[in-house]
Amino acid sequence: MKSIMEDPLHILSSVFGYDAFRGPQADIIDHVVAGGDALVLMPTGGGKSLCYQVPAMIRPGVAIVVSPLIALMQDQVDALRQVGAKAAYINSSMSYDQTMHAESLMQRGELDLVYVAPERLCTERFLSLLDRTPLALFAIDEAHCVSQWGHDFRPEYRQLTVLHERFPDVPRLALTATADEPTREDIVDRLQLTDARRFISGFDRPNISYHVTLKDNARKQLLAFLEEQHRGDSGIVYCMSRKKVEQTAEWLRGHGYHTLPYHAGLDSATRQRHQDRFLREEGLVMTATIAFGMGIDKPDVRFVAHLDLPKSLEAYYQETGRAGRDGLAATAWMTYGLADAVAVRGFIDRGEASATQKRIEHQKLNALLGYCETTTCRRRVLLSYFGETLAEPCGNCDTCLTPVETWDGTKAAQKALSCVYRTDQTFGASYLTDVLLGVDSERIGRFGHEHISTFGIGTELTRPQWLSVYRQLVAAGMLTVDSEHGSLILTEAAVPVLKGEAEVKFRKDPRPAKRRGKVNGGAGDTKRRVDVDTQLDGSDERALFDALRAKRAELAKSQGVPPYVVFDNRTLIDMTKRRPARLIDMAHVTGVGEVKLKKYGQAFLDVIALHA
Ligand code: ADP
Ligand code: ZN
Repeated sequence: MKSIMEDPLHILSSVFGYDAFRGPQADIIDHVVAGGDALVLMPTGGGKSLCYQVPAMIRPGVAIVVSPLIALMQDQVDALRQVGAKAAYINSSMSYDQTMHAESLMQRGELDLVYVAPERLCTERFLSLLDRTPLALFAIDEAHCVSQWGHDFRPEYRQLTVLHERFPDVPRLALTATADEPTREDIVDRLQLTDARRFISGFDRPNISYHVTLKDNARKQLLAFLEEQHRGDSGIVYCMSRKKVEQTAEWLRGHGYHTLPYHAGLDSATRQRHQDRFLREEGLVMTATIAFGMGIDKPDVRFVAHLDLPKSLEAYYQETGRAGRDGLAATAWMTYGLADAVAVRGFIDRGEASATQKRIEHQKLNALLGYCETTTCRRRVLLSYFGETLAEPCGNCDTCLTPVETWDGTKAAQKALSCVYRTDQTFGASYLTDVLLGVDSERIGRFGHEHISTFGIGTELTRPQWLSVYRQLVAAGMLTVDSEHGSLILTEAAVPVLKGEAEVKFRKDPRPAKRRGKVNGGAGDTKRRVDVDTQLDGSDERALFDALRAKRAELAKSQGVPPYVVFDNRTLIDMTKRRPARLIDMAHVTGVGEVKLKKYGQAFLDVIALHA
C-alpha cells in the first residue's frame, strides 16, 4: 500500500523522470490530493494526465479514469506500466478471465489506476463493484463529450452524474481541452461540478506554426508542403469525404509516402488496425476524415494538414491541436478556397440540425472564413476567438513570417457588389466575374446581362483578382452563399460599401506559381525532420540521435508498444545532448524515471558508448 505522505514532486521525478511541474499542475494535484473536485481546462499537450495520475498514486485506493475510446486505453495503460505504475483497463476487448482478474485486483485496491468507458462504468454491475472498492478519485477525461455544444457529444457521458450521487466523498476531476464558455458551463452542470475549483489555462500552442494557403491545386500544394517540411514525419491529412480520403491516400502513396486511409466507411477492424499502426510506426501519415483523431495521444504528430475547411474554428483548433503534443515544433497547414465555403454551407444546410443550430453553425463558419482571410497574426485571431488576447504578433504563423500585402479595394468592392445586385443575386463568382470583365459569352447573352451597367466595368483587374475579391467579400460577411445554387447574396454589411460610406481593404493573394518561403524560419532546404533538427547541432548529434531512435524502435517492437511509450523524442534529444556515460548520469535525462532507468538505461548507455 502506498503512503499518504508521499510528495508529488518526488513522484514526478522518481516515477516520471521530470524535474518540475508545468503551469497549474502542482496546484491541481495538491487540490485533488486534499480531496477537492476540479474542472481542468488545459490545451492539448499541456499535461492533463499527470493531474490525475500523480494523485492516483498518492491517495489511498484506486483511481477510476473515464475515457471515451476503448481503442486508446491500452496505450495509456502501457505507458503507465512502463513507468512502474499499477494500471489496468477493463473493457469489452478482454476475455472473461482477464476481466475477472482485473476486477478482483481493483476491488482489493491493488491497482493505482483503472481505465473504463462510461457505458460500462454506469452499469449497475460495475457500480456495485465500485461500492466494494477503495476509491482514490474519478477522473473524467475528454469531459466536453458530455456537452451537446462540444463537437464530440456522447450521450453515455450524461449518465456520469451517478458518480456524484453514489460516491459523494470521492473527488472528481473533469478534464478537457475544449475552450468555449457554453461547453464549460455544460460540463459543470451535467457533471454536478458547481463547487469544483476551476483551473483554466491559456490555450495558446506556441510550438504549432499556423499556415493557410489559397487553394490552387490542393494535392500538389500538399505534396510541396510535405516535401519541403515534413518528409518522413508522422502527420494527419484531413479531407471532407471518404472518397477524397481514398484518392488522396493513393496519390500520396504514389509519391512515396507511407500513408493509410481512415474513415467511417471502413469496417471497424480495419480502422482499428490503421490506428494502431499510426501509433506504433514512425513516419506514418494518416489520411482521414474527422472520424479520426479523438483521444489520440501520440505525442510526435508533426503536422496536421487540412485539404478542406473544417466546420468551425473550434473544430480546427481541436484537429490541429493533435500536432506537437510533445512541445516540439509542429505545423498546422490548410488550403482553402471559395468553393470550400460553399461546400461547408451546403453541409450545414442539408444537415439534420434545428434552424437555430444551423444559424449558429453558419456564424461559426463565418468566423472561420475570417481567420482564413486575416491580414494579421493568425494566432491572435484564433486566441481572441477563444477569449484570449495575445500582446504581440506571434512570429510563428504565415502572416507574421511573410506579412500580407493589402490594397485599397473600396472601388472594386463596390463594383463587385453592385454586379451581384444588377444580376438579381442569382449567380456565382465565376459568372459575375465574366460580367465585370465584359466577356462575350452565350450565357451572358441569354440573360441579357451585356446591357446592364456593370457589364465590362472591371477590366482593371484580372479574373483571379476578381475571384479573390468575391472570396474576400464572402469572408468579410458582405456576401453570403446560397448553398444550393452557389449564388452570391448581399447582406446588410454590404450596404455601407455600396453607398460609398465604408472603405475596404483586401489582401493581395500570392501568385500561385511563386514558391513560398520556408515556414519554420531559417531551416535550410534539405532539412527533413524540422522538429528534431532545430534541436540538434550538427551531423554528429544527428547520427547519435538516429542510433538512439533505432534502439528505441527495437525495444518498442519487442514489447508491442508504440516507440514513444519507451521514451519520447524530448528524452532522446536530451540524451543526445548530455551523452551520459554512467547510469547515475542517465538518471538526470528528462523522462527517465527509476523504472525506465533500470529497464532501459544500460541499453541506451551502450549505444552512446559506441558513438564516443
Ligand atoms: P494532454 O493530455 O494535456 O494533452 P499529456 O498529459 O499527454 O497532455 O502531456 C503531454 C506531454 O507532456 C507528455 O509527453 C507528458 O509526458 C509531458 N509532460 C506533462 N507534464 C510534464 C512535466 N511537468 N514535465 C515534463 N513533461 C511533462
Ligand atoms: Zn502570428
